[in-house]
Amino acid sequence: MPVHNLRELLIHELKDIYNAEKQITKNLPKMAKASDSAELQQIFKEHLEVTQAQIERLDQCFEHLGTSPGRMKCHGMEGLIEEGQELIEQVDPPAADAGLVAAAQKVEHYEIAAYGSVRTWAEQLGEDEVARLLEETLEEEKEMDQRLTQLAETLNAEAEQEDEEEEEEDQPQQKGAAKRGGKAARGR
Ligand code: FE
Ligand code: FE
Repeated sequence: MPVHNLRELLIHELKDIYNAEKQITKNLPKMAKASDSAELQQIFKEHLEVTQAQIERLDQCFEHLGTSPGRMKCHGMEGLIEEGQELIEQVDPPAADAGLVAAAQKVEHYEIAAYGSVRTWAEQLGEDEVARLLEETLEEEKEMDQRLTQLAETLNAEAEQEDEEEEEEDQPQQKGAAKRGGKAARGR
């Protein structure tokens, strides 16, 4: 579809993010299933509900703009989800949850960039109700990102601790040396 002006660009990008959200609703249950952390599973479950409400908000935006979501494919989200799936297959616990958080944050950052742009364009076009709806979703995506950042800190500490315990099990006779080596390697 050719895009000639800011209004058409807004509609174009809304169709893209609509498809991205649809892809995310299919993927979030898989992310939850792949996680070992009850807290991370809970975050994914809650974000699935939030995402469904975001899709409804987009439906309202299309109505305000007198158009429909259409059938666009968001290739960016497709790629991010594909990478996340590869990670699930390749990474073992205890690093798997840290990897899942990183994959989820990449998705959130894509959404934050997209919603930030469409919100601003809607404002510039005087589509105040559309801008308000998009702002609401933008804030939810930022909140999700912050929750993931906070969880990443505890998950990473756990993963590192398990790494150290494994090192000790591997070399019981060199316990002290392995510990010192490990710390030096991490630059502490
Ligand atoms: Fe979303
Ligand atoms: Fe999201």
